[in-house]
Amino acid sequence: MRAARKYDMEAVQRHLADELVKFAEQEPLRVFAVAFDLELYEICRKAAKLSLRKAICQSERVPLELGSLPSPVFYQLMRYRTRCTEAAQEVLTNLRWVLTQILGRKGNKIVTRLRHDYVQVSYEWPALWIWFRCTSCLPHCDKLVPFSGAAEHTPRMWWKEYVDRVWYALEGRPVGSVSGEMNIFEPSIRRAVTCTVCAPDAYKDLKEFSEQLASRIDKAVSMVGQPVNVYSSK
Ligand SMILES: [Zn+2]
Repeated sequence: MRAARKYDMEAVQRHLADELVKFAEQEPLRVFAVAFDLELYEICRKAAKLSLRKAICQSERVPLELGSLPSPVFYQLMRYRTRCTEAAQEVLTNLRWVLTQILGRKGNKIVTRLRHDYVQVSYEWPALWIWFRCTSCLPHCDKLVPFSGAAEHTPRMWWKEYVDRVWYALEGRPVGSVSGEMNIFEPSIRRAVTCTVCAPDAYKDLKEFSEQLASRIDKAVSMVGQPVNVYSSK
């Protein structure tokens, strides 16, 4: 009987935990507070991570659930978010990788037929991003150098404006997915297509770049550790 009751309690707890996780997507801060109160620290960690996707503390009303959250824990959560923002923005602080990592780009497939029906598949050297290749439309004054002593590359203004928009979006939401959001991506494409040199490749290149950027940001943010000691200090 006792075992059954124990099993019931575990099932209830599991169900509660599942429901909290579902709710955490919409209300990460409230779920964080509830989970902390219930000592469900694994859910605290998930909610803290999910809180990065949203700008929090936007409402005038203080969520009721926060009443039970100790202020040092709230402080640690805010500190975690700040450190994630710093890590995410760091990816955009030194943009040298934009020039040195072009090897990661996939060039067009070249299929060569050899003797005896052997086929050799290779990839052509990927071209430099269009915002460096173009010398026609408005440039940005920040020049990029892949390594000391190498030639300078001048990006086009529309690309730098895109990078700046990502930077500001990361301030409230340090997650890679912001790099592909319409209101961040589209204004630069609209500007790029007014240049005859940039127009044919702007969308393709910026799309590929935004995906690379997203995974770099997510990787940088994932390296930021959560304040585990606080979650278990109750
Ligand atoms: Zn151009």
